[in-house]
Amino acid sequence: MDSLLLSLSIDAIPNRILAFARPRARDFLWPRLDTRKIVAGELIHEAGAPFTHVIFPHDGVISLMSETIDERSVEEASIGREGFVGFPLIMGGSNAIGRTVVQISGYASWLSIADLNEGFERFECLRKIMLSYSQSLIVQLMHSVACSSLHGAEQRVARWLLHARDRMSGDHFHLTQEALADTLGLRRATVSEACSALSRANTIHYSRGSLEIVDRAALQDHACSCYRAVHDASFLARSGDAAIF
Ligand SMILES: [Zn+2]
Repeated sequence: MDSLLLSLSIDAIPNRILAFARPRARDFLWPRLDTRKIVAGELIHEAGAPFTHVIFPHDGVISLMSETIDERSVEEASIGREGFVGFPLIMGGSNAIGRTVVQISGYASWLSIADLNEGFERFECLRKIMLSYSQSLIVQLMHSVACSSLHGAEQRVARWLLHARDRMSGDHFHLTQEALADTLGLRRATVSEACSALSRANTIHYSRGSLEIVDRAALQDHACSCYRAVHDASFLARSGDAAIF
């Protein structure tokens, strides 16, 4: 088994939803989780697919993609260790609202819908945490619409990389420019120019799909205001004190 999976323990769960659940709820969930690797490019759900599980990422980035009628796609929201895949379940829905694809490899835990529903019945904190996260995801969805129409490519690339870094365990990760272009609905050449500009500004180092954030603070100076707005409204920022649940 991968060393990351072996090191996962109930006392140090990277996923914030699971980490902030009260101890009795965590004890209930822990043996019911199926934890596995997620790999860049992996399709988690097609749009409209019925949910069989809710998924809690621990490391890596998963994108919710919308598709236009001309079959182009763009990311509506990204999800990492701060959240879960399957937020329509909290709103009474039962199907994926967009294509769900892994953008950066990592690992995540699957929990069946039956176990999730039992968890809701037994532990009020679980529903409250997941609702709180869903609220921050809606803020992200709203900003993604404005961002893609109002802000430039370099700003959007910087913003996306900062959100990704917030969800990863280190400054170094694998991400192709082609995947980033598809995610942001930009041309590959446009993303290449943006990455070159960010490299010249000594904020990132990029080489053949290997990306390193070398100066996070400087990268923030190149990102649009959406990064700070979404970050400040995010579950990670608001849930610093787990006792609120
Ligand atoms: Zn923006």
